[in-house]
Amino acid sequence: MRIILLGAPGTGKGTQGKYIAEKYKIPQISTGDMLRESIDSKNKIGMMIKNIIEEGKLVSDDIVCELIKKRIAKKDCINGFLLDGFPRTVKQACCLSKNKIKIDYVLEFIMPHHSILERISGRRIHVQSGRIYHVKFNPPKNKDKDDITGEPLIQRKDDKLESVKNRLEEYKKTHHLLVEYYTYEKKINNIKYFQINAMNEFLLIKEKIDMILKK
Ligand code: AMP
Repeated sequence: MRIILLGAPGTGKGTQGKYIAEKYKIPQISTGDMLRESIDSKNKIGMMIKNIIEEGKLVSDDIVCELIKKRIAKKDCINGFLLDGFPRTVKQACCLSKNKIKIDYVLEFIMPHHSILERISGRRIHVQSGRIYHVKFNPPKNKDKDDITGEPLIQRKDDKLESVKNRLEEYKKTHHLLVEYYTYEKKINNIKYFQINAMNEFLLIKEKIDMILKK
């Protein structure tokens, strides 16, 4: 079960990804999370990318490809993995095939950009667990507190409006090329590539994904 979740930030990939990873017992690998961990630990990569991420620009292909190659080589990926936020460019997609990393499913989450802006700017995160809330669509029981631990929720710096606009601009530049890439891969290499209407209710999307992954 080697799965890629494609789609703009804020389309619910992270939330659905968590569900898929638990159900199929595969690790959810988010390059965004890995890069933020590098920043928090103040390592060499972290220092290089801090500003890029806060501005909502893309980190270089070489850096993310290296991170992903190392991560997928770990033992817990032996039965599969779920990539969330990678690939974001065709060069990154090619990095998988060049390294003989086979992909079974590509699920693309589709949502109009004005809805994405609303979704991301209302997003709140419980950093320790990765639980994701939304001030309007999925509010915590107590304002700005995690439901399970009661710890404070945060808003990521790059979830602020200006940064989100940049992230969507970046996304627009590269996404259509990735769609072409995987449409071709579907024809030639039999990758199962599906598009998902991310505006649907969480449960409906979950059911759709379950159906797809049974195929
Ligand atoms: P995300 O959490 O997936 O929205 O990613 C947050 C930020 O991390 C993005 O806005 C980029 O700056 C960076 N990032 C994450 N994944 C990638 C990637 N595959 N390629 C380049 N930059 C990335």
